[in-house]
Amino acid sequence: MNTNTPTILSRDQHCISRKQIDSDTLKVLYRLNRHGYKAYLVGGSVRDLLLGRQPKDFDIGTDATPNQIRKLFRNCFLVGRRFRLAHIRFSGNKLIEVATFRRHPKDHELPENPDDHFHFVQNVFGSPGEDASRRDFTINALFYNIADYSVIDYLGGIEDLQEKRLSVIGDPLIRFVEDPVRMLRAIEFSVRLNFTLNTDIYNAIESHKELLATAAPARIREEIMELFRHQISGPVLKQCRELNMLPHLLAGYPGTDESIELLSKIDQRTASGIPIEESFAIAALYLRLFMDSCPPTKETSMTTALHQANEIIIPHCQYFSIASGIRHQARELLIGCFRLARGRGFRAEKRFLQHPLAPKALELFTLWATVRTDLTPLAENWKQAISQNKVEKTRPRKSRKPRKRSNSPSN
Ligand code: ATP
Ligand code: MG
Repeated sequence: MNTNTPTILSRDQHCISRKQIDSDTLKVLYRLNRHGYKAYLVGGSVRDLLLGRQPKDFDIGTDATPNQIRKLFRNCFLVGRRFRLAHIRFSGNKLIEVATFRRHPKDHELPENPDDHFHFVQNVFGSPGEDASRRDFTINALFYNIADYSVIDYLGGIEDLQEKRLSVIGDPLIRFVEDPVRMLRAIEFSVRLNFTLNTDIYNAIESHKELLATAAPARIREEIMELFRHQISGPVLKQCRELNMLPHLLAGYPGTDESIELLSKIDQRTASGIPIEESFAIAALYLRLFMDSCPPTKETSMTTALHQANEIIIPHCQYFSIASGIRHQARELLIGCFRLARGRGFRAEKRFLQHPLAPKALELFTLWATVRTDLTPLAENWKQAISQNKVEKTRPRKSRKPRKRSNSPSN
């Protein structure tokens, strides 16, 4: 891997224009540059701009140390216990992240405990070329240099972008051992960008997929939520199923066809502008399994349904340390879907219709009914019932005559 002589695309050789870069990010880049530091746009934003997509956020890389960055910006504070990152605050709670270039530590510098390696790797300052090669994929290791508006490519990311191909930086076998979450990210980016995966990535996933179970659950949880936010949970988890990654990624999730179809419906819902909540995502993941475990018929009691919902939701929430509020909501959504799937006319129907989560459960159930089309008429029926119930609740009460105060009990 050559990290010394990058390919440089001058301003007229690429399509990135400063107009596409957020103005506060530009201010930070220019200020660093004016003070003699290297100031690059890094990571996903350069990739997305080159692909003509709108970046989600703009990250900055520099050779200024965190303390040097802090001295340049009044609105700056340093975060991170292990690796110091600078956050520069702008109006409207906007944060711009500035990170000092980092490098892989040499073997003898690594802490003895391998569990600490990932964090440690993030902690050693290095050159821009070293910073590029510690990243995951070549297309995520491109820099945009504010000094001359050029794009800097140390690892062949430009060619991979042109070829629509995802390549791991270095040997995937080594990089996946170093950080197993990269296996999931590989699928995520290939689906998101519609890129092909290099065959060495498939082979490395085949031999190292079990390591996903050793990754920090908090990081897997975050990447899974990223799938939902990017509206690709269906196709990514489908591919994970095909590569036998699911048991190591989401132990309780069976990834049946219908459940993956439901996830794609959820993705469409998110794409239509409805933000995805984690409780909704969890309920969607497990709805099919839950319905299989307690068929929504007269014979299945609410106690059984509650029990089954707990059996399914609690292990997931425990493993990922998910707060009880989210767990409770996910469970209520499953129970709500159970009630809806049983049909009309059961006990306490009216009370259920007034439950604050009933509309959301109906939303999930309605999406489920687009997969299981035999349920469509029932979903429609409930929709009317719930909207009528709302009308009833909001209908003004008849004004009562004020009660007369009475002093004598005989009155
Ligand atoms: P997104 O549009 O989802 O934000 P992104 O490429 O910016 O895409 P992030 O998760 O925000 O992805 O990470 C920012 C950058 O940090 C990546 O582009 C990549 O260079 C680097 N990176 C992130 N995760 C890893 C990892 N597990 N291993 C190595 N580098 C990583
Ligand atoms: Mg990003």
